[in-house]
Amino acid sequence: MSRVAYVNGVYRPHGEAVVHIEDRGFQFADGVYEVWSVMDGRLADFDGHMARLHRSLTELGIEIPMSAAALAVVLKETVRRNRVLDGLVYLQVTRGTASRDHAFPVDVAPTVVVTAKRLDPAKGRRAAGNGVAAITRPDIRWGRCDIKTVGLLPNVLAKQAARESGAYECLLVDELGLITEGSSTNAWIVDEHGKLRTRDTQANILRGITRAAVLKLIEAEGLELEERAFSVEEAKRARELFVTAASAFVMPLISLDGAWIGDGTPGPVATRLREVYLEQARREAI
Ligand code: PMP
Repeated sequence: MSRVAYVNGVYRPHGEAVVHIEDRGFQFADGVYEVWSVMDGRLADFDGHMARLHRSLTELGIEIPMSAAALAVVLKETVRRNRVLDGLVYLQVTRGTASRDHAFPVDVAPTVVVTAKRLDPAKGRRAAGNGVAAITRPDIRWGRCDIKTVGLLPNVLAKQAARESGAYECLLVDELGLITEGSSTNAWIVDEHGKLRTRDTQANILRGITRAAVLKLIEAEGLELEERAFSVEEAKRARELFVTAASAFVMPLISLDGAWIGDGTPGPVATRLREVYLEQARREAI
């Protein structure tokens, strides 16, 4: 039997149902989903899942794409067209399709996808009759910031917060009050004694390629450096604060949470590092 999927108002053959490559679900995991169990062709716990969907969308500031009643029609129609009696119906709503930029796009309609699939109820009954096994693992959701994953929703929310405060970047702070990194950059200071500092690379930050290149330049320049975390307070007291990334090179930050850094202008170390980084990157670019 051929399966059918709903994509933004259109029912399409499952194999031909597509979303745009710049959909924010694909680019940033910037979306939410719900799954209803289908029993005898009807949706179980309809209101509970719908309420959670609304909550998830509201929390992320994603537009509610249609009323609960309209969505129920789409879900049921997808179930009907797929002739699912027992199974699951899956709904995904993303913030929509827009040119890639962490901060929220404006005037973009959410993407809505619905699929349905059959499950063999006898299989579930057998499993429940026998009982099933489980294992344990540390809860690392999502502690692996060293992996350059597209699961960027926390980064997206941080960048949006920066945008809404008229800031360029949002620096992320861990439970000890220490800065980990920026939402899409690595963070650095020149501390009050003139020493460069950037956080050591453990699982909690991305190993920035620009960071690594700048580390080498710092050595070549004979500057003092320590790979050690710094607090928000230390950042505010620092002579200089800056971030690095392929998209920003070396970018001086002149204020943090409204407090001026140093004299409120780009400092000499960040300015020099930007210059030498750009020179070297230009020379070595292939
Ligand atoms: N941290 C995060 C979370 C990032 O997304 C990026 C940019 N990709 C960076 C740091 C900087 O990495 P790079 O210098 O490799 O661009």
